[in-house]
Order: sequence, then C-alpha cells, then structure tokens
Amino acid sequence: MAFVENIIKKIMDKGEILSKIKLTENVYHIVIKSDAIKTIDFVPGCFIRLGVGLGKELSLKKDMVRSYSIWDINKDKNTFSLAIATHSNGIGAQWVKNCEVGSTVYFKTKKGKFTVDNSADSYLFIGDLSALSHLYIINRYLPKNKQVESVIYSKNTRNLYADIDDKKPFNFYSIENNNSKEIIAKIENILPYLKGVKKVYVAGDSRVCIALNNYLRKEHKWSTKQIKVKPFWNPDKKGLE
Ligand SMILES: Cc1cc2nc3c(=O)[nH]c(=O)nc-3n(C[C@H](O)[C@H](O)[C@H](O)COP(=O)(O)OP(=O)(O)OC[C@H]3O[C@@H](n4cnc5c(N)ncnc54)[C@H](O)[C@@H]3O)c2cc1C
Repeated sequence: MAFVENIIKKIMDKGEILSKIKLTENVYHIVIKSDAIKTIDFVPGCFIRLGVGLGKELSLKKDMVRSYSIWDINKDKNTFSLAIATHSNGIGAQWVKNCEVGSTVYFKTKKGKFTVDNSADSYLFIGDLSALSHLYIINRYLPKNKQVESVIYSKNTRNLYADIDDKKPFNFYSIENNNSKEIIAKIENILPYLKGVKKVYVAGDSRVCIALNNYLRKEHKWSTKQIKVKPFWNPDKKGLE
C-alpha cells in the first residue's frame, strides 16, 4: 500500500489544517490552507477527494480517500472550509475526529455537475447532514431574487448546523434515513407554491436520491434538466466516489 500512497501524494495537492471546530455532536468544521487554492477553477458545488487513509495500515485502496464538499472558499487567504459528519463511523469519520490543527493533508478538487445553476426562478433543496454544506454554498451563490424552498432532514435536528455566515436559510425536519415517503409528503406541500421555472437539488442518501428522482419525473413530469441529483453515500458501499 506504500506504493499507492506515494502515488496519491504525488498527484494530490498539499494543504495544512488551519482550524478544527466541532459544530454539532456529529459534525466538524475544518479549515484547510493550501497554495493550490489560488489556481483552482472554483465553482460553487466543487468538492475534494481527501486523503483520509494515508499513513494507515489499510487493506483496501478505496479506503485511502473520501469526498467532501467545499463549504466556503477564500482565494485571498488560500483557505477553504469543509463540514464533515461522523455518524458513518468509517475511515473518513475517524480521520476528522482524530485530525489535528497544523497537520498536512492531501486533496484533489473536483467539479462534476452538481454545481450552482442560475437558470431557474425557484429552487427546492433536499438533503441530509452529509449534503448540507454542499446545498448551503449553492444557495449562497444564487442571485437573491430566486425563490428557495427546502427539506433538510436528520433523525435529530440538533445535528443540523447553521451556514458559514451563521444564517439558517433552510427548513429542518426530524426524519429518519431512507424515509422517502415522509420527505415526499413534505414536498407535496411545497410544489404548488414553486414559481416560474423550477429546479430541485437532491443529495445525500442514494436511496432517497433514486426515490425522489423517480417521484418528480413520474408523478410530476419534471424533466431531467430540472432535477439535479447526487448520491453522497450508499448503505451497501463505502466512500461512494
Ligand atoms: C461529491 C460528494 C460530496 C460529499 N460531501 C460531504 C460533506 O461535505 N460532508 C460529509 O459529511 N459527507 C460528504 N459526502 C459523503 C461522504 O463522502 C460519505 O458519507 C463517506 O462515505 C464517508 O466516509 P466514511 O469513511 O466516514 O464512511 P464509509 O467507510 O464510506 O462508510 C461506512 C458506513 O457508513 C455508511 N455511511 C456513509 N456515509 C453515511 C452518512 N452520511 N450517513 C449514514 N451512513 C453513512 C456507509 O454506507 C457504510 O455502511 C460527500 C460525498 C460525495 C460523493
């Protein structure tokens, strides 16, 4: 595994943990400083592949890295923020619990398609704790005249933290994982009030992503262009991307 680790370190960017704050019982806010931030082609919705398993005796190569969304970025200071949940209890969760300010990290930024899109008039954000920082940054970068509705859920709403500017622009609900039925019941109340061209962002539990994608396309005839969906974790898999 040392060979793989050396390659990962060569192809990834290097950074330093500048601060670590516990936001709620299950979430840490990590700030990373790196010269690589100056040159990245940042779009709200970018995420990083973070080397969480480096330096460990791992049996699986896939346990080397995990994906985390860029919650906030400051190109003048060369810093960016992450919000990392720990209830998965996997290697990523262990990493964030144990990481220390001042230590070196390796990461690579990724863009994908789950990024900010200004083309609609109204937006519906749906997601769990793992997706909250991603949905927050997309919402922050939307023009102020857009209508924003949301269903953000966790079994315990005390896990759901405020945005980086301390604002709480989303509605929080106490809903268990994989309870698509209850999420759909909340959405049913919102859909009639969405104005103009509508768009939905759904992220987090892959089962909920699939159920809501099917529901909006089949029951409400939404087009694929209107639905931005990104599974962040899957109960049968480790480290999705
Ligand atoms: C593009 C992208 C961006 C992401 N951004 C963030 C982010 O900003 N913050 C964040 O916290 N997560 C984020 N995630 C999710 C995160 O990468 C996964 O939760 C990852 O599996 C955690 O790794 P782990 O090593 O802790 O657990 P793993 O070893 O991957 O999984 C261990 C077990 O926990 C389960 N599990 C994994 N995640 C969760 C969860 N969230 N809730 C309940 N069970 C879970 C798995 O199914 C598995 O059974 C993102 C994922 C993607 C694809």
